[in-house]
Amino acid sequence: LEFEDLYIKREILMGVFEAGFEKPSPIQEETIPVALTGRDILARAKNGTGKTAAFVIPALERVNPKSNKTQVLILVPTRELALQTSQVCKILGKHLGINVMVTTGGTTLKDDIIRLHDPVHILVGTPGRILDLAGKSVADFSECPIFIMDEADKLLSPEFTPIIEQLLAYFPADRQIMLFSATFPLVVKSFMDKHLKQPYEINL
Ligand code: AMP
Repeated sequence: LEFEDLYIKREILMGVFEAGFEKPSPIQEETIPVALTGRDILARAKNGTGKTAAFVIPALERVNPKSNKTQVLILVPTRELALQTSQVCKILGKHLGINVMVTTGGTTLKDDIIRLHDPVHILVGTPGRILDLAGKSVADFSECPIFIMDEADKLLSPEFTPIIEQLLAYFPADRQIMLFSATFPLVVKSFMDKHLKQPYEINL
């Protein structure tokens, strides 16, 4: 299978090839077509498999650059991973004309509020800060169709889980959830059973 066979926009193909990707990795081959249908996904995949692009490519494909709404939220457990993930969005989405923003704890909330005056199509960050912004109605997820969690096994800690559940309440009922996790502990299974609708499961 080639990237050209995945029915993604030419602008995204350009970003993918400029990133030096020649062929989809197995996780990308399996995830991208399902993700494009809007179905919930639970993928067990380790780092180094190309999992980031596996959720970023379909997310980019489903973003409408002409809308000013936030259309994708990517939740990650650490600031470092947030920065890395936003870089992947920026590189692969370079030709789409979209705005990607990172927000995590440890920076000034006021600066984030100012940055959110501009349209932000994809928001990447850690749960606490994102919930703060949603609670202040600075980030608006009322029409955001895509909710992604990377490193869900780390994200679903006792500290973060209630925050993530509060955050989900800001999303429309028919949102797509994509959950990526290296391991599959009980917390991840419970979250899946509670919030994902007939998830397509991927094990690689
Ligand atoms: P990840 O598992 O998302 O951390 O990605 C691991 C590494 O694989 C990163 O350096 C990516 O840039 C790279 N990568 C992702 N997808 C592909 C691909 N289809 N072809 C070549 N390299 C890739």
